[in-house]
Amino acid sequence: MSQLVIQNLHVSIGEKPIVKGLTLTINSGEVHAIMGPNGTGKSTLSKAIAGHPDYTITSGDVLIDGVSILAQEADERARAGIFLAFQYPSEIPGVSIANFLRAAQQARLAEGEEIDASAYYKRLYSKMDLLKIDRKFTSRAVNDGFSGGEKKRCEILQMAMLEPKFALMDETDSGLDIDALRIVADGVNTMRGPNLGVLLITHYQRLLDYIVPDHVHVMYDGRLVKSGDKSLALELEAKGYDWIKKELQAATA
Ligand code: ADP
Ligand code: MG
Repeated sequence: MSQLVIQNLHVSIGEKPIVKGLTLTINSGEVHAIMGPNGTGKSTLSKAIAGHPDYTITSGDVLIDGVSILAQEADERARAGIFLAFQYPSEIPGVSIANFLRAAQQARLAEGEEIDASAYYKRLYSKMDLLKIDRKFTSRAVNDGFSGGEKKRCEILQMAMLEPKFALMDETDSGLDIDALRIVADGVNTMRGPNLGVLLITHYQRLLDYIVPDHVHVMYDGRLVKSGDKSLALELEAKGYDWIKKELQAATA
């Protein structure tokens, strides 16, 4: 059992404050969804946690099992158990998925240690079977000419191989078609369990029909302003975000 604690986090891009005091605890086994209008800092939050160098954490803390990860580079955070699924994954022509994933595994080993090829392929194939991915898929170049759904399949397979403690999945604005949505949802639902915590960022309630979250949070102007269960997502879908703004204005008036 692990715990990811985000404590009064403030994040700036350049001089501009974007995340303005966000607090959230995610336990392994839980799926948390963050919803909110465009430009409220949802993607900034996930990139800052993952250690993207363009995002400056100006105050607050992020801890895994009580240990701050803020002094760690992105790769160390990944080793500590953070996985960030990219909204717009890169294409890597000429590098097969199998070799890419192998390099990612190799990078986690200590210097001088070699990955065991047969054990690696055994694990890869067992994950692919679990996720119902065709064997031919991993001989293709990473994301090269992939459809939206294939990119998602590649990402889910990466996640399955890396076995993170916490997956940050930013699906906002990615224009997922229904196939891609199902691939993400089936993948997350397959991996869901006591050893994985998920932070699912989404603009659309639709994804939450397939991945039913334990907790739903509304992010507005860099903060979480409302939390609830899955019914909150339905309420947002029906009423939009304006009522949240009005509630906030009424509270501060
Ligand atoms: P969301 O994911 O909720 O739509 P973002 O985190 O992408 O919000 O963006 C929050 C704010 O930060 C927006 O005002 C956006 O214009 C700004 N922003 C995001 N990325 C950058 C960047 N690389 N440089 C400058 N401003 C950025
Ligand atoms: Mg975003």
